[in-house]
Amino acid sequence: MNNKDLQTIVAWAKRRGFVYPGSSIYGGLANAWDLWPYGTILRKNIIDLWWKEFIQKRPDIIPLDAAILMNPKVWEASGHVENFNDPMIDDKNTWERFRVDKLIEAKIEELRQQLTDEQILEKINKEFWVTNLIPESWSFDQMKAFIEKYIPNNPNTWKPANWTDVRKFNLMFKTHQGVIEDESTVVYLRPETAQWIFVNFKNILDTMRVKLPFGIAQIWKAFRNEITPGNFLYRVREFEQMEIEYFVEPEKDEEYFEKWKKWSWNWWTKTIWIKEENLRFRDHEPDELSHYSKWTTDIEYYFPWWWWELQGIARRTDYDLRQHMKHSGQDLQYSDPKTWKRFIPWVIEPSWGLTRAIFTTMLDAYDEEQYTDPKWRTQTRVVARFHKNVAPIKFAILPLLEKNEDMVNLAQNIFKELSQDYMVELDIKGNIWKRYRRQDEIWTPYCITIDYQTLEDWTVTIRDRDTMQQQRIKIEEIKKFM
Ligand code: ATP
Repeated sequence: MNNKDLQTIVAWAKRRGFVYPGSSIYGGLANAWDLWPYGTILRKNIIDLWWKEFIQKRPDIIPLDAAILMNPKVWEASGHVENFNDPMIDDKNTWERFRVDKLIEAKIEELRQQLTDEQILEKINKEFWVTNLIPESWSFDQMKAFIEKYIPNNPNTWKPANWTDVRKFNLMFKTHQGVIEDESTVVYLRPETAQWIFVNFKNILDTMRVKLPFGIAQIWKAFRNEITPGNFLYRVREFEQMEIEYFVEPEKDEEYFEKWKKWSWNWWTKTIWIKEENLRFRDHEPDELSHYSKWTTDIEYYFPWWWWELQGIARRTDYDLRQHMKHSGQDLQYSDPKTWKRFIPWVIEPSWGLTRAIFTTMLDAYDEEQYTDPKWRTQTRVVARFHKNVAPIKFAILPLLEKNEDMVNLAQNIFKELSQDYMVELDIKGNIWKRYRRQDEIWTPYCITIDYQTLEDWTVTIRDRDTMQQQRIKIEEIKKFM
Protein backbone atom coordinates (compact mmCIF):
# COMPACT_ATOMS: atom_id res chain seq x y z
CA MET A 1 0.00 0.00 0.00
CA ASN A 2 0.94 3.59 -0.40
CA ASN A 3 2.73 5.08 2.57
CA LYS A 4 4.59 7.77 0.69
CA ASP A 5 4.80 11.14 2.27
CA LEU A 6 3.27 13.88 0.14
CA GLN A 7 5.78 16.50 1.30
CA THR A 8 8.67 14.32 0.09
CA ILE A 9 7.09 13.99 -3.35
CA VAL A 10 6.41 17.72 -3.60
CA ALA A 11 9.99 18.52 -2.55
CA TRP A 12 11.39 16.06 -5.10
CA ALA A 13 9.11 17.39 -7.86
CA LYS A 14 10.35 20.92 -7.15
CA ARG A 15 14.00 19.97 -6.75
CA ARG A 16 14.12 17.89 -9.92
CA GLY A 17 12.25 20.30 -12.16
CA PHE A 18 8.88 18.56 -12.53
CA VAL A 19 6.44 20.92 -10.83
CA TYR A 20 6.92 24.28 -9.17
CA PRO A 21 4.57 26.66 -7.31
CA GLY A 22 3.10 29.25 -9.69
CA SER A 23 3.86 33.01 -9.46
CA SER A 24 6.51 32.21 -6.88
CA ILE A 25 8.34 35.55 -6.93
CA TYR A 26 5.10 37.19 -5.79
CA GLY A 27 4.56 34.74 -2.99
CA GLY A 28 2.66 32.30 -5.19
CA LEU A 29 -1.03 31.95 -5.94
CA ALA A 30 -2.81 29.47 -3.68
CA ASN A 31 -2.73 25.98 -5.16
CA ALA A 32 -1.48 27.09 -8.58
CA TRP A 33 1.36 24.97 -9.90
CA ASP A 34 3.47 25.19 -13.04
CA LEU A 35 4.93 22.27 -14.91
CA TRP A 36 8.68 22.57 -15.23
CA PRO A 37 10.71 20.88 -17.98
CA TYR A 38 10.48 17.25 -16.82
CA GLY A 39 6.84 17.72 -15.80
CA THR A 40 6.13 19.18 -19.23
CA ILE A 41 7.74 16.22 -20.97
CA LEU A 42 5.96 13.78 -18.66
CA ARG A 43 2.65 15.45 -19.53
CA LYS A 44 3.43 15.15 -23.24
CA ASN A 45 4.36 11.47 -22.87
CA ILE A 46 1.08 10.75 -21.07
CA ILE A 47 -0.88 12.61 -23.74
CA ASP A 48 0.98 10.79 -26.53
CA LEU A 49 0.27 7.39 -24.95
CA TRP A 50 -3.38 8.25 -24.52
CA TRP A 51 -3.61 9.66 -28.04
CA LYS A 52 -2.02 6.56 -29.53
CA GLU A 53 -4.28 4.18 -27.62
CA PHE A 54 -7.58 5.95 -28.07
CA ILE A 55 -7.24 7.99 -31.25
CA GLN A 56 -4.45 6.70 -33.46
CA LYS A 57 -5.26 3.01 -32.99
CA ARG A 58 -9.04 3.43 -33.12
CA PRO A 59 -10.97 4.03 -36.33
CA ASP A 60 -14.07 4.86 -34.25
CA ILE A 61 -12.68 7.88 -32.38
CA ILE A 62 -11.88 11.32 -33.78
CA PRO A 63 -10.03 14.18 -32.07
CA LEU A 64 -11.19 17.76 -31.63
CA ASP A 65 -9.76 20.85 -30.06
CA ALA A 66 -12.41 23.38 -29.06
CA ALA A 67 -12.37 26.96 -27.76
CA ILE A 68 -12.67 27.43 -24.00
CA LEU A 69 -15.16 30.30 -24.15
CA MET A 70 -18.63 29.45 -25.41
CA ASN A 71 -22.03 31.08 -25.49
CA PRO A 72 -23.26 31.07 -21.84
CA LYS A 73 -26.51 29.48 -23.00
CA VAL A 74 -24.51 26.25 -23.39
CA TRP A 75 -24.00 26.11 -19.62
CA GLU A 76 -27.61 26.94 -18.87
CA ALA A 77 -28.79 24.14 -21.16
CA SER A 78 -26.25 21.65 -19.81
CA GLY A 79 -27.48 22.26 -16.25
CA HIS A 80 -24.14 23.54 -15.00
CA VAL A 81 -25.43 27.01 -14.04
CA GLU A 82 -28.11 25.39 -11.91
CA ASN A 83 -26.45 22.21 -10.68
CA PHE A 84 -22.66 22.31 -10.82
CA ASN A 85 -22.30 22.85 -7.10
CA ASP A 86 -20.38 21.58 -4.14
CA PRO A 87 -21.64 21.80 -0.55
CA MET A 88 -19.90 24.52 1.46
CA ILE A 89 -19.92 25.74 5.00
CA ASP A 90 -18.46 28.91 6.55
CA ASP A 91 -17.07 29.51 9.99
CA LYS A 92 -18.83 32.73 11.04
CA ASN A 93 -15.97 33.55 13.42
CA THR A 94 -13.35 33.80 10.68
CA TRP A 95 -15.46 33.74 7.49
CA GLU A 96 -13.34 30.93 6.15
CA ARG A 97 -15.11 28.65 3.73
CA PHE A 98 -14.79 24.84 3.57
CA ARG A 99 -16.06 22.10 1.31
CA VAL A 100 -18.20 20.10 3.70
CA ASP A 101 -17.92 16.64 2.17
CA LYS A 102 -14.10 16.93 2.18
CA LEU A 103 -14.07 18.01 5.85
CA ILE A 104 -16.20 15.00 6.70
CA GLU A 105 -14.05 12.65 4.61
CA ALA A 106 -10.96 13.82 6.51
CA LYS A 107 -12.74 13.17 9.83
CA ILE A 108 -13.82 9.69 8.70
CA GLU A 109 -10.23 9.04 7.73
CA GLU A 110 -9.21 9.98 11.27
CA LEU A 111 -11.86 7.65 12.74
CA ARG A 112 -10.42 4.85 10.62
CA GLN A 113 -7.32 4.90 12.83
CA GLN A 114 -9.40 3.31 15.61
CA LEU A 115 -12.47 1.79 13.99
CA THR A 116 -13.29 -0.35 10.99
CA ASP A 117 -15.54 1.03 8.26
CA GLU A 118 -18.41 -1.15 9.51
CA GLN A 119 -18.04 0.19 13.05
CA ILE A 120 -17.94 3.81 11.86
CA LEU A 121 -21.00 3.27 9.71
CA GLU A 122 -22.92 1.59 12.51
CA LYS A 123 -22.14 4.47 14.85
CA ILE A 124 -23.03 7.31 12.48
CA ASN A 125 -26.01 5.49 11.09
CA LYS A 126 -27.51 5.49 14.59
CA GLU A 127 -26.69 9.18 15.01
CA PHE A 128 -27.56 10.65 11.60
CA TRP A 129 -29.28 7.86 9.62
CA VAL A 130 -26.59 7.86 6.95
CA THR A 131 -26.18 4.59 5.09
CA ASN A 132 -22.70 4.93 3.59
CA LEU A 133 -19.32 6.58 4.14
CA ILE A 134 -19.54 8.78 1.04
CA PRO A 135 -20.47 12.20 2.45
CA GLU A 136 -21.07 13.62 -1.06
CA SER A 137 -24.23 11.50 -1.12
CA TRP A 138 -25.59 12.67 2.27
CA SER A 139 -28.27 15.31 2.70
CA PHE A 140 -27.22 18.82 3.81
CA ASP A 141 -28.89 18.22 7.20
CA GLN A 142 -26.92 15.02 7.73
CA MET A 143 -23.70 16.82 6.83
CA LYS A 144 -24.45 19.68 9.22
CA ALA A 145 -25.32 17.29 12.06
CA PHE A 146 -22.06 15.39 11.54
CA ILE A 147 -20.03 18.61 11.47
CA GLU A 148 -21.64 19.92 14.66
CA LYS A 149 -20.90 16.70 16.48
CA TYR A 150 -17.49 15.66 15.13
CA ILE A 151 -15.86 18.84 13.85
CA PRO A 152 -16.60 21.51 16.44
CA ASN A 153 -13.33 23.35 15.73
CA ASN A 154 -12.22 25.27 12.68
CA PRO A 155 -9.60 22.97 11.08
CA ASN A 156 -7.28 25.91 10.37
CA THR A 157 -7.36 27.75 13.68
CA TRP A 158 -8.32 24.83 15.95
CA LYS A 159 -10.59 27.25 17.80
CA PRO A 160 -14.35 26.53 18.24
CA ALA A 161 -16.16 27.25 14.98
CA ASN A 162 -19.51 28.96 14.56
CA TRP A 163 -20.78 27.01 11.55
CA THR A 164 -23.33 28.34 9.06
CA ASP A 165 -25.80 25.99 7.42
CA VAL A 166 -24.54 23.89 4.55
CA ARG A 167 -25.13 25.65 1.22
CA LYS A 168 -24.42 25.14 -2.47
CA PHE A 169 -21.49 26.81 -4.15
CA ASN A 170 -21.31 26.97 -7.97
CA LEU A 171 -17.88 25.95 -9.19
CA MET A 172 -17.84 27.73 -12.53
CA PHE A 173 -15.47 30.65 -13.00
CA LYS A 174 -17.30 33.64 -14.42
CA THR A 175 -15.72 36.40 -16.45
CA HIS A 176 -16.85 39.02 -18.97
CA GLN A 177 -16.33 39.20 -22.67
CA GLY A 178 -15.72 42.65 -24.18
CA VAL A 179 -15.54 46.04 -22.54
CA ILE A 180 -18.78 46.13 -20.57
CA GLU A 181 -19.02 44.14 -17.36
CA ASP A 182 -22.67 43.32 -16.81
CA GLU A 183 -24.90 40.24 -16.87
CA SER A 184 -25.22 40.38 -20.67
CA THR A 185 -21.47 39.89 -21.18
CA VAL A 186 -20.96 36.99 -18.77
CA VAL A 187 -18.98 34.04 -20.09
CA TYR A 188 -17.79 31.00 -18.18
CA LEU A 189 -14.46 29.24 -18.20
CA ARG A 190 -15.53 25.71 -19.03
CA PRO A 191 -15.61 23.29 -16.08
CA GLU A 192 -15.40 20.25 -18.40
CA THR A 193 -14.43 19.84 -22.04
CA ALA A 194 -17.45 17.75 -23.02
CA GLN A 195 -20.12 20.36 -23.76
CA TRP A 196 -18.52 21.62 -26.96
CA ILE A 197 -18.83 18.11 -28.33
CA PHE A 198 -22.56 17.96 -27.66
CA VAL A 199 -23.14 21.44 -29.02
CA ASN A 200 -21.36 20.53 -32.27
CA PHE A 201 -22.83 17.07 -32.56
CA LYS A 202 -24.90 17.93 -35.64
CA ASN A 203 -21.93 19.56 -37.44
CA ILE A 204 -19.83 16.51 -36.74
CA LEU A 205 -22.51 14.16 -38.07
CA ASP A 206 -22.84 16.29 -41.21
CA THR A 207 -19.15 16.67 -41.96
CA MET A 208 -17.24 13.68 -40.56
CA ARG A 209 -19.27 10.74 -41.96
CA VAL A 210 -19.27 9.01 -38.57
CA LYS A 211 -21.43 6.00 -37.71
CA LEU A 212 -22.49 4.69 -34.31
CA PRO A 213 -20.75 3.67 -32.17
CA PHE A 214 -18.19 6.46 -32.39
CA GLY A 215 -16.32 8.74 -30.05
CA ILE A 216 -15.00 12.27 -29.98
CA ALA A 217 -11.90 12.90 -27.94
CA GLN A 218 -10.55 16.08 -26.51
CA ILE A 219 -7.62 17.02 -24.30
CA TRP A 220 -7.46 20.42 -22.70
CA LYS A 221 -7.94 22.77 -19.84
CA ALA A 222 -10.94 22.93 -17.54
CA PHE A 223 -11.50 25.34 -14.67
CA ARG A 224 -13.34 24.86 -11.39
CA ASN A 225 -13.45 27.36 -8.58
CA GLU A 226 -12.89 24.62 -6.02
CA ILE A 227 -13.78 25.56 -2.45
CA THR A 228 -10.94 23.58 -0.94
CA PRO A 229 -8.21 22.93 -3.46
CA GLY A 230 -5.12 21.16 -2.20
CA ASN A 231 -3.11 17.98 -1.94
CA PHE A 232 -0.60 19.25 -4.51
CA LEU A 233 -1.87 18.61 -8.06
CA TYR A 234 -4.83 16.54 -6.90
CA ARG A 235 -7.35 19.35 -6.62
CA VAL A 236 -6.47 22.54 -8.44
CA ARG A 237 -8.60 25.24 -9.99
CA GLU A 238 -7.04 25.06 -13.44
CA PHE A 239 -6.41 21.54 -14.67
CA GLU A 240 -6.49 19.37 -17.75
CA GLN A 241 -8.77 16.55 -18.77
CA MET A 242 -8.60 13.91 -21.45
CA GLU A 243 -12.22 13.18 -22.30
CA ILE A 244 -14.09 11.01 -24.75
CA GLU A 245 -17.79 11.27 -25.47
CA TYR A 246 -18.65 7.89 -26.92
CA PHE A 247 -22.02 7.77 -28.71
CA VAL A 248 -23.91 4.49 -28.83
CA GLU A 249 -27.35 3.12 -29.55
CA PRO A 250 -29.39 3.38 -26.31
CA GLU A 251 -29.69 -0.39 -25.93
CA LYS A 252 -25.89 -0.77 -26.13
CA ASP A 253 -25.23 1.68 -23.31
CA GLU A 254 -24.44 -0.92 -20.68
CA GLU A 255 -22.32 -3.05 -23.00
CA TYR A 256 -20.09 -0.11 -23.94
CA PHE A 257 -19.94 1.15 -20.37
CA GLU A 258 -18.39 -2.19 -19.38
CA LYS A 259 -16.02 -1.98 -22.35
CA TRP A 260 -14.90 1.50 -21.36
CA LYS A 261 -14.22 0.32 -17.82
CA LYS A 262 -11.96 -2.36 -19.25
CA TRP A 263 -10.23 -0.13 -21.80
CA SER A 264 -9.64 2.54 -19.15
CA TRP A 265 -8.25 0.07 -16.64
CA ASN A 266 -5.88 -1.35 -19.24
CA TRP A 267 -4.61 2.09 -20.12
CA TRP A 268 -3.72 2.87 -16.51
CA THR A 269 -2.13 -0.49 -15.85
CA LYS A 270 -0.64 -1.56 -19.19
CA THR A 271 0.11 1.68 -21.00
CA ILE A 272 1.36 4.05 -18.36
CA TRP A 273 1.98 1.21 -15.88
CA ILE A 274 0.44 2.47 -12.67
CA LYS A 275 0.67 -0.36 -10.11
CA GLU A 276 -2.49 -2.40 -10.20
CA GLU A 277 -2.63 -2.83 -6.43
CA ASN A 278 -2.95 0.97 -6.10
CA LEU A 279 -6.03 1.15 -8.32
CA ARG A 280 -9.65 0.15 -7.83
CA PHE A 281 -13.11 0.76 -9.27
CA ARG A 282 -15.75 2.46 -7.14
CA ASP A 283 -19.39 2.83 -8.13
CA HIS A 284 -21.06 6.10 -7.18
CA GLU A 285 -23.82 6.08 -4.62
CA PRO A 286 -27.17 7.10 -6.23
CA ASP A 287 -27.26 10.44 -4.34
CA GLU A 288 -23.68 11.20 -5.30
CA LEU A 289 -24.25 11.10 -9.08
CA SER A 290 -23.72 14.24 -11.14
CA HIS A 291 -26.89 15.83 -12.48
CA TYR A 292 -26.27 14.36 -15.96
CA SER A 293 -25.39 10.82 -14.97
CA LYS A 294 -27.46 7.67 -14.71
CA TRP A 295 -24.55 5.68 -13.35
CA THR A 296 -20.89 6.47 -12.72
CA THR A 297 -17.93 4.35 -11.80
CA ASP A 298 -14.66 5.96 -10.80
CA ILE A 299 -11.19 4.54 -11.09
CA GLU A 300 -9.55 5.46 -7.82
CA TYR A 301 -5.92 5.54 -6.76
CA TYR A 302 -4.61 4.87 -3.30
CA PHE A 303 -3.17 8.31 -2.51
CA PRO A 304 -1.10 8.84 0.64
CA TRP A 305 -4.29 9.93 2.40
CA TRP A 306 -6.93 7.50 0.99
CA TRP A 307 -8.55 6.13 -2.17
CA TRP A 308 -9.54 9.09 -4.33
CA GLU A 309 -10.73 9.58 -7.90
CA LEU A 310 -8.46 9.52 -10.92
CA GLN A 311 -10.98 8.99 -13.66
CA GLY A 312 -14.76 9.02 -13.92
CA ILE A 313 -16.66 6.77 -16.33
CA ALA A 314 -20.21 8.05 -16.62
CA ARG A 315 -23.33 6.93 -18.42
CA ARG A 316 -24.61 10.35 -19.47
CA THR A 317 -27.53 8.81 -21.38
CA ASP A 318 -29.09 11.25 -23.88
CA TYR A 319 -29.27 13.94 -21.19
CA ASP A 320 -26.92 16.46 -22.84
CA LEU A 321 -28.11 16.12 -26.45
CA ARG A 322 -31.71 16.28 -25.29
CA GLN A 323 -31.06 19.42 -23.25
CA HIS A 324 -29.31 21.13 -26.17
CA MET A 325 -32.15 20.15 -28.51
CA LYS A 326 -34.63 21.69 -26.11
CA HIS A 327 -32.68 24.92 -25.55
CA SER A 328 -31.37 25.51 -29.08
CA GLY A 329 -34.38 24.28 -31.03
CA GLN A 330 -32.04 22.30 -33.31
CA ASP A 331 -32.56 18.68 -34.22
CA LEU A 332 -29.62 16.69 -32.82
CA GLN A 333 -30.92 13.24 -33.67
CA TYR A 334 -28.96 10.58 -35.46
CA SER A 335 -30.30 8.72 -38.53
CA ASP A 336 -29.40 5.08 -38.71
CA PRO A 337 -28.05 4.61 -42.27
CA LYS A 338 -29.56 1.10 -42.54
CA THR A 339 -33.01 1.49 -40.99
CA TRP A 340 -33.36 5.30 -41.32
CA LYS A 341 -34.65 5.25 -37.77
CA ARG A 342 -34.03 8.61 -36.06
CA PHE A 343 -33.10 8.75 -32.39
CA ILE A 344 -30.88 10.53 -29.87
CA PRO A 345 -27.78 8.45 -29.15
CA TRP A 346 -26.68 7.73 -25.62
CA VAL A 347 -23.27 8.67 -24.34
CA ILE A 348 -20.59 6.95 -22.31
CA GLU A 349 -18.06 9.41 -21.01
CA PRO A 350 -14.69 8.21 -19.81
CA SER A 351 -13.03 11.32 -18.36
CA TRP A 352 -9.41 11.13 -17.31
CA GLY A 353 -7.78 13.84 -15.22
CA LEU A 354 -4.54 14.59 -17.03
CA THR A 355 -3.24 16.70 -14.15
CA ARG A 356 -4.08 13.88 -11.74
CA ALA A 357 -2.42 11.40 -14.13
CA ILE A 358 0.80 13.43 -14.01
CA PHE A 359 0.67 13.53 -10.22
CA THR A 360 -0.17 9.84 -9.89
CA THR A 361 2.57 8.79 -12.27
CA MET A 362 5.13 10.66 -10.17
CA LEU A 363 3.71 9.38 -6.90
CA ASP A 364 3.53 5.79 -8.08
CA ALA A 365 7.08 5.91 -9.46
CA TYR A 366 8.84 7.61 -6.56
CA ASP A 367 11.02 5.33 -4.50
CA GLU A 368 14.13 5.37 -2.36
CA GLU A 369 16.56 2.48 -2.25
CA GLN A 370 19.79 1.50 -0.57
CA TYR A 371 22.86 0.74 -2.64
CA THR A 372 26.58 0.26 -2.15
CA ASP A 373 28.73 2.93 -3.73
CA PRO A 374 32.17 2.32 -5.36
CA LYS A 375 33.81 2.83 -1.94
CA TRP A 376 31.56 0.14 -0.41
CA ARG A 377 29.53 2.64 1.58
CA THR A 378 25.77 2.16 1.93
CA GLN A 379 23.92 5.04 0.34
CA THR A 380 20.29 5.88 -0.35
CA ARG A 381 19.33 6.83 -3.86
CA VAL A 382 16.06 8.39 -4.95
CA VAL A 383 14.67 6.57 -7.94
CA ALA A 384 11.46 7.47 -9.74
CA ARG A 385 10.58 4.14 -11.28
CA PHE A 386 8.84 5.46 -14.37
CA HIS A 387 8.11 2.91 -17.03
CA LYS A 388 10.27 3.49 -20.11
CA ASN A 389 7.18 4.68 -22.00
CA VAL A 390 6.64 7.45 -19.53
CA ALA A 391 10.18 8.44 -18.40
CA PRO A 392 10.79 12.05 -19.48
CA ILE A 393 14.33 11.44 -20.73
CA LYS A 394 15.18 8.18 -22.49
CA PHE A 395 18.97 8.55 -22.80
CA ALA A 396 21.49 10.73 -20.99
CA ILE A 397 24.79 11.29 -22.71
CA LEU A 398 27.69 11.94 -20.42
CA PRO A 399 31.18 12.72 -21.70
CA LEU A 400 33.55 11.69 -18.91
CA LEU A 401 35.55 14.91 -18.97
CA GLU A 402 34.14 18.31 -19.78
CA LYS A 403 37.57 19.60 -20.78
CA ASN A 404 38.22 16.91 -23.36
CA GLU A 405 36.97 18.45 -26.60
CA ASP A 406 36.92 15.16 -28.50
CA MET A 407 34.68 13.54 -25.91
CA VAL A 408 32.33 16.52 -25.85
CA ASN A 409 32.15 16.71 -29.66
CA LEU A 410 31.37 13.03 -29.91
CA ALA A 411 28.72 13.37 -27.18
CA GLN A 412 27.14 16.19 -29.17
CA ASN A 413 27.07 14.05 -32.31
CA ILE A 414 25.46 11.14 -30.49
CA PHE A 415 22.92 13.60 -29.06
CA LYS A 416 22.09 14.81 -32.60
CA GLU A 417 21.54 11.27 -33.78
CA LEU A 418 19.45 9.97 -30.85
CA SER A 419 17.38 13.11 -30.50
CA GLN A 420 15.85 12.40 -33.92
CA ASP A 421 13.76 9.75 -32.15
CA TYR A 422 13.95 10.35 -28.40
CA MET A 423 14.14 12.99 -25.69
CA VAL A 424 17.83 12.90 -24.82
CA GLU A 425 19.82 14.90 -22.33
CA LEU A 426 23.39 15.97 -22.76
CA ASP A 427 24.96 16.40 -19.33
CA ILE A 428 28.55 17.54 -19.61
CA LYS A 429 29.58 19.00 -16.27
CA GLY A 430 30.55 17.50 -12.92
CA ASN A 431 31.45 14.31 -11.18
CA ILE A 432 30.21 11.32 -13.19
CA TRP A 433 28.64 9.59 -10.14
CA LYS A 434 26.66 12.70 -9.30
CA ARG A 435 25.48 12.87 -12.89
CA TYR A 436 24.32 9.23 -12.70
CA ARG A 437 22.49 10.01 -9.47
CA ARG A 438 20.70 12.95 -11.08
CA GLN A 439 19.52 10.71 -13.91
CA ASP A 440 18.40 8.04 -11.41
CA GLU A 441 16.22 10.61 -9.73
CA ILE A 442 14.28 11.14 -12.94
CA TRP A 443 14.70 7.45 -13.87
CA THR A 444 16.35 7.87 -17.23
CA PRO A 445 16.52 4.32 -18.62
CA TYR A 446 20.04 4.56 -20.05
CA CYS A 447 23.14 6.66 -19.34
CA ILE A 448 25.73 6.59 -22.07
CA THR A 449 29.25 7.49 -21.10
CA ILE A 450 31.93 8.59 -23.52
CA ASP A 451 35.40 7.92 -22.15
CA TYR A 452 38.98 7.49 -23.38
CA GLN A 453 38.27 4.09 -24.86
CA THR A 454 35.42 5.57 -26.91
CA LEU A 455 37.92 7.75 -28.73
CA GLU A 456 39.95 4.68 -29.65
CA ASP A 457 37.38 2.06 -30.60
CA TRP A 458 33.98 3.84 -30.91
CA THR A 459 32.45 1.98 -28.01
CA VAL A 460 30.58 3.60 -25.12
CA THR A 461 29.40 2.32 -21.78
CA ILE A 462 25.66 2.05 -21.32
CA ARG A 463 24.37 1.97 -17.75
CA ASP A 464 21.07 0.40 -16.87
CA ARG A 465 19.14 2.36 -14.23
CA ASP A 466 17.70 -0.72 -12.46
CA THR A 467 20.85 -2.74 -12.04
CA MET A 468 23.36 0.14 -12.22
CA GLN A 469 25.45 -2.28 -14.30
CA GLN A 470 27.40 -0.95 -17.25
CA GLN A 471 28.30 -2.70 -20.42
CA ARG A 472 30.39 -1.64 -23.34
CA ILE A 473 28.71 -1.50 -26.70
CA LYS A 474 29.33 -0.05 -30.14
CA ILE A 475 27.89 3.39 -30.76
CA GLU A 476 25.63 2.11 -33.53
CA GLU A 477 24.06 -0.40 -31.09
CA ILE A 478 22.71 2.24 -28.70
CA LYS A 479 19.25 2.55 -30.26
CA LYS A 480 18.66 -1.19 -30.00
CA PHE A 481 18.43 -0.81 -26.22
CA MET A 482 15.18 1.09 -26.44
P1 ATP B 1 -13.94 15.21 -7.67
O1 ATP B 1 -15.03 14.33 -7.11
O2 ATP B 1 -12.56 14.78 -7.30
O3 ATP B 1 -14.20 16.67 -7.49
P2 ATP B 1 -15.32 15.01 -10.15
O4 ATP B 1 -16.08 13.74 -9.97
O5 ATP B 1 -16.04 16.29 -9.97
O6 ATP B 1 -13.99 15.00 -9.26
P3 ATP B 1 -15.31 14.79 -13.00
O7 ATP B 1 -16.29 15.85 -13.23
O8 ATP B 1 -15.73 13.36 -13.16
O9 ATP B 1 -14.62 14.99 -11.56
O10 ATP B 1 -14.03 15.11 -13.90
C1 ATP B 1 -13.27 14.11 -14.54
C2 ATP B 1 -11.85 14.09 -14.05
O11 ATP B 1 -11.27 15.40 -14.04
C3 ATP B 1 -11.72 13.60 -12.62
O12 ATP B 1 -11.71 12.19 -12.57
C4 ATP B 1 -10.38 14.19 -12.21
O13 ATP B 1 -9.31 13.33 -12.61
C5 ATP B 1 -10.31 15.48 -13.01
N1 ATP B 1 -10.58 16.61 -12.11
C6 ATP B 1 -11.80 17.06 -11.72
N2 ATP B 1 -11.68 18.12 -10.91
C7 ATP B 1 -10.34 18.35 -10.78
C8 ATP B 1 -9.56 19.33 -10.07
N3 ATP B 1 -10.13 20.29 -9.36
N4 ATP B 1 -8.21 19.26 -10.16
C9 ATP B 1 -7.61 18.30 -10.90
N5 ATP B 1 -8.29 17.36 -11.61
C10 ATP B 1 -9.63 17.39 -11.55
